[in-house]
Amino acid sequence: MKTQSATESSNNFIRQMIADNQNIVTRFPPEPNGYLHIGHAKSICLNFGIAAEHESRICYLRFDDTNPTKENIEYVESIKDDVRWLGYEWGEHLRHSSDYFEKLYEYAIALIKMNKAYVCSLSPENLKGYRGTLREPGKNSPYRDRSIQENLDLLDRMKTGKCAEGEHALRAKIDMASPNINMRDPIIYRIKNIPHQMTGDQWCIYPMYDFTHCLSDAIEGITHSLCTLEFQDHRPLYDWVLDTLKTPCHPQQIEFARLSLNYTVLSKRKLHELVENNLVSGWNDPRMPTLIGMRRRGYTPEAIKDFCERIGITKNDTQIEMGVLENSIRSDLDPKTARVMGVLKPLRVVIENYPEEKVEQLDAPYHPNDANMGTRQVPFSRVLYIEQDDFLEEPPKKFFRLAPGREVRLRYAYFITCQSVIKDEEGNIVELRCTYDPETRGGSAPDGRKVKGTLHWVSESHSIKAEVRLYDRLFNQPNPGAGGTDFKTVLNPNSIEILRNSQLEPSLANAQGGEAYQFERQGYFCVDNLDSSKEALVFNRIVTLRDSWAKIEKANRH
Ligand code: ATP
Ligand code: MG
Repeated sequence: MKTQSATESSNNFIRQMIADNQNIVTRFPPEPNGYLHIGHAKSICLNFGIAAEHESRICYLRFDDTNPTKENIEYVESIKDDVRWLGYEWGEHLRHSSDYFEKLYEYAIALIKMNKAYVCSLSPENLKGYRGTLREPGKNSPYRDRSIQENLDLLDRMKTGKCAEGEHALRAKIDMASPNINMRDPIIYRIKNIPHQMTGDQWCIYPMYDFTHCLSDAIEGITHSLCTLEFQDHRPLYDWVLDTLKTPCHPQQIEFARLSLNYTVLSKRKLHELVENNLVSGWNDPRMPTLIGMRRRGYTPEAIKDFCERIGITKNDTQIEMGVLENSIRSDLDPKTARVMGVLKPLRVVIENYPEEKVEQLDAPYHPNDANMGTRQVPFSRVLYIEQDDFLEEPPKKFFRLAPGREVRLRYAYFITCQSVIKDEEGNIVELRCTYDPETRGGSAPDGRKVKGTLHWVSESHSIKAEVRLYDRLFNQPNPGAGGTDFKTVLNPNSIEILRNSQLEPSLANAQGGEAYQFERQGYFCVDNLDSSKEALVFNRIVTLRDSWAKIEKANRH
């Protein structure tokens, strides 16, 4: 039943480890305290991907909702949306850790009855002093030897709302001298007088993550509990809880490196800060590494899955270059995206020898390598726009575009030659006067003469005005916040540039929200699914055609 290719498994040690197992059951366990980011996609692709490769095909979507302070339904819904958007289905396997609160409570009672848990009444501040450090062992709590009956009574008082927050906590009785701090009688229940989004005010004690997670896995019959490396030190506790309680199912926890990407941050806490400080327009700002932001920017599920496949699953914490992610979206869009012409920063061009009223419809294929995508007609007339950057009055040596006296090709149209430059009173160029060679229709000259530059263009009277938002990396440091600096101080001030007067070819008049196009020579662009309308089109730049940052970084290294 396994369908993975050699390359897929070679960079994924987990796939290799579990290859021979038939009945694999996995889960993706997000905490609903923010929107998902591209790091979560790595975990989603791994868990849902592996499940899909095995007979059972079961991957649970489980909301790890044990901390009602920071969690809410908005996040639950957005997470479901994002997982579905990536193309995964949990079917009937949707759960909340809170579904198990009753069972978890019974397990806590079982631990007390086995003399493996006790109610500790040290205040949170005092408790710290008993924990010890990495070098020194901890000390036993003075409440550690309470009788089983006393513990049961106290837990009941905690549960029935008779105690204040911080007054007591239920702790596992393991080993205060363990070199692993997680094993030093960790707290497994705490009092929180806060209603919960799922259970309302039914509970005022909530189980801790380490207690909840392993038991939820066991209750669901998870075979492999895949998590990120920071949980490696929690594995002994994971195993202790399940061994001590002798659960019928004992999943195997396997850790892998979390995704870290340069020029961005992948932590919900930091993403929250960006949103709360209005440093971005929201969780769905197209510059955010959130799935909802990337989706709005024009990233596709295929590109994100391809990226996760390319980076693989390892135990090494390495930072992946943003260029890898950008290559994934380029390779996905390249074969399937229509080419069109759009002039981002227009410069007016008048073809002096072209008749005033004449309009020609020129055939232009939508894709150079895929005839099935068909052609459209692009109107050509006397007054056109070209890109401001495609003209220089005093061109340096390697500039092959338009300049005074120089001849270039207009894509799908004619050769034109710049005859003169019109300027306003301040000396700004406002218009070029050019001539065209009627013999060069289609882009070649019968006499065989060559031109070095080919420019995109639109016809002034036919073009559609649009807003184009050019995005770049959100931070200008590869590792924002490294070395103790505040990550918010290294935002890239040029991460967004809004162009309000771009001119697009008329075939884009009916472009719909979410559609992607390649604007020739400029990059891939997507119709913004929130702000765009038929009357006022808004495009987001998904990615440039080439990696301009690679060049900059190379230059910096020399
Ligand atoms: P954050 O640090 O962004 O708050 P988290 O780990 O607290 O992330 P959870 O909602 O608990 O967020 O994560 C759900 C699952 O996604 C967990 O199994 C977690 O290990 C995984 N995950 C989170 N971030 C990454 C990442 N950067 N790379 C890979 N997996 C991740
Ligand atoms: Mg977490």
